[in-house]
Amino acid sequence: MRLHDISVKISPQMVTWPGDPPVTLERVRHISEGANANVSRLACGVHTGTHVDAPVHFIEGERGTDTLALDVLIGPAYVAEIPGLEPINDHMLEQAGIPAGTERLLLKTDNSQYWEKGLNTFQEQFASIDADGAVWLVQHGVKLVGVDYLSVAPYKHSRPTHVTLLSAGVVIVEGMDLHHIEPGHYTLYCLPLRLVGSDGAPARAVLIEE
Ligand SMILES: [Zn+2]
Repeated sequence: MRLHDISVKISPQMVTWPGDPPVTLERVRHISEGANANVSRLACGVHTGTHVDAPVHFIEGERGTDTLALDVLIGPAYVAEIPGLEPINDHMLEQAGIPAGTERLLLKTDNSQYWEKGLNTFQEQFASIDADGAVWLVQHGVKLVGVDYLSVAPYKHSRPTHVTLLSAGVVIVEGMDLHHIEPGHYTLYCLPLRLVGSDGAPARAVLIEE
């Protein structure tokens, strides 16, 4: 059994979505200054790094991250590789060799090279899923979809893809680093913070290779 960490590191230097709050992680009590223990404060947007989206992210009044089902976030997953940075449509998903019945689908694209290179400036050119691709996922029974950059949807065209997936109850995982992952079958453990009513939550995501 091999464990693969597909979470990105959270730090003030990391890339964040344009306009989202920056990350601060700072020590507020110091042993070196006489405190009993070192204690830090974290401030960041809930869509920081590897994270999940909840339905309320795009649908007013819908559920938050605390309601996402653990039996969707944990279980067998398939990693499909779709090279390039073009938006992924229904035809590309059809051609990607995704086994029938796949419920957790992680898409490895050229986005993962951004993590490998350690780029900490936002890249507007990233592979995502277009509106037709989102419909394809819902129609094929996908319950969780993961992507390897900060949005599942094309830059500046976020609504159709998100609304299609979230209104169908599909869990969206964004910001996974898959550069070191071969396509194939794994067991996914994706555990977001249980933030009540939140539209997003940072997650630790791990793939287990049997
Ligand atoms: Zn998000």
